[in-house]
Amino acid sequence: MSPMQIRKMDDMHVHLRQGDMLHRALSHTAVQCERALVMPNTIPPILTATDLVKYRESIIEALASVESFTPLMTFKIVPGTTPAEIHSLKAHGAIAGKLYPDGVTTNSEGGVTDFKALYPVYKAMQDEGLVLCLHGEMPGAFSLDRETLFLDVLRTIAADFPKLKIVLEHATTADAIKCVSELPDNVAASLTVHHLYLTLDDVIGDRLNPHAFCKPIAKRPEDRDMLVKAATSGNPKFFLGSDSAPHPIPSKECACGAAGVYTAPVLLPALIELFERNNQLERLEAFTSEFGAKFYGLPLNKDTITLTEESWTVPDEYHGVKPFLSGSTLKWKVAADKTTAAVTDARATVRAPRA
Ligand SMILES: [Zn+2]
Repeated sequence: MSPMQIRKMDDMHVHLRQGDMLHRALSHTAVQCERALVMPNTIPPILTATDLVKYRESIIEALASVESFTPLMTFKIVPGTTPAEIHSLKAHGAIAGKLYPDGVTTNSEGGVTDFKALYPVYKAMQDEGLVLCLHGEMPGAFSLDRETLFLDVLRTIAADFPKLKIVLEHATTADAIKCVSELPDNVAASLTVHHLYLTLDDVIGDRLNPHAFCKPIAKRPEDRDMLVKAATSGNPKFFLGSDSAPHPIPSKECACGAAGVYTAPVLLPALIELFERNNQLERLEAFTSEFGAKFYGLPLNKDTITLTEESWTVPDEYHGVKPFLSGSTLKWKVAADKTTAAVTDARATVRAPRA
């Protein structure tokens, strides 16, 4: 079979972390993506222009050996965020602000409960052409209903700020797909790879699988089917935002395990299989590398990535983090260049399957 070439991806939602984890995990994203929208829920969070500049510098420094990758910077919107700070963040290179409702996911404590109180902030973002990224879950609601109950907040903000670009991040329900499809073109949704594969049964249907635990939690089969339909539909409102979120294995395999799935190492191979299965391979590149850029008003990436049809087993761990689909055999492999070879040799270990 001849190799497959596709335009390098834009991952419009990724957690690159900090320190050691940033250094270890970044290569997987940078090899497959020319750009990625970097989430701001670091410790401490990215709240100001100074925080943003410092974080961008640490990402670029961690990239030393990887060519041509641009981190797209975001900030965290908190109850104390001011319009003046928005203007300063924009001037220092922010392209989006992320709103986390209080307490709904990793490091979202101190998040927002009063969405209307932030209207001056949305107005400043609209004026500056910044994108509002929403973690769309209603705090305090029952887990499976949190996203559906949040959709009224989305509808209200979209109606009151018709020129504000809004992304419902990591949509997980048929309700969200329907809502985003019906709203005007200033509203889009990012879709993760793991939510295109998982349902709640993969988390709790048999023995508890902490590595499939994420926020928002995977939902019903009919929800997953609707996400796959949206991803493969060719509708530019739906694009890739992996929400890849590495946590060390001990933070997942314990009481009070962390939420997040580490999909970065398998991003494109997993998507190819899914689009192939749905006979929509010709729509993959638009989903991964065009619709996100167009929504954010960015030029399309110029570089391509090459994949060869060569089956490989996803390792049990990369640098102490269990990747999505570990132990599975995938059909397409990112063609080895200097960077991928280094990543594979130094950081992957394959263990015998667990009984
Ligand atoms: Zn996220």
